[in-house]
Amino acid sequence: MELACLDLEGVLVPEIWIKFAEKTGIEELKATTRDIPDYDVLMKQRLAILDQHGLGLKEIQEVIATLEPLPGAVEFVNWLRERFQVVILSDTFYEFAAPLMKQLGYPTLLCHKLAVDDNGRVTDYILRQKDPKRQSIKAFHSLNYRCIAAGDSYNDTTMLAEAEAGILFHAPDNVIAEFPQFPAVHSFDELKQEFIKASNRPLTL
Ligand SMILES: [Mg+2]
Repeated sequence: MELACLDLEGVLVPEIWIKFAEKTGIEELKATTRDIPDYDVLMKQRLAILDQHGLGLKEIQEVIATLEPLPGAVEFVNWLRERFQVVILSDTFYEFAAPLMKQLGYPTLLCHKLAVDDNGRVTDYILRQKDPKRQSIKAFHSLNYRCIAAGDSYNDTTMLAEAEAGILFHAPDNVIAEFPQFPAVHSFDELKQEFIKASNRPLTL
């Protein structure tokens, strides 16, 4: 029995924080785990910037409601779901992801959540657990699932390493260079091929 585990941002949907930064013109919000590998440092910086600018969950959600999955992502997810049980393992938050998950047909999503006060101010973020992507793969192993995982960034690499097969998708050059043990592909057609190769079943396109 095989699970396909996918990262969300940068793989199926755009980087939410980057889109939000573009709309608001706040350059510092463009930093992602590609730039700052320590997720806690990155999130504390983001929340401080939101506070400085008086921006709350409502403003963020207005931007997210205008985003669409990356071209080809919906078709890819449908292709994958015909061949694997699909789980999305993300470092985003349920509050942010909802409008995008609707467009993807609500595949299973394991991620984090935000703490928001009565005025809509994001006061904190609540991580489900430490190293959640890797822990999820370990948990699936305890349920006797074989895991094939794909992601684009530093926060995916422990998931890729823990899985039976890990694939870099849309990854920047520095991540590809630092993790040469993982195949690196850039199109959904190539990603399908990698899933077929990594499967222990005779799958076809
Ligand atoms: Mg990503």
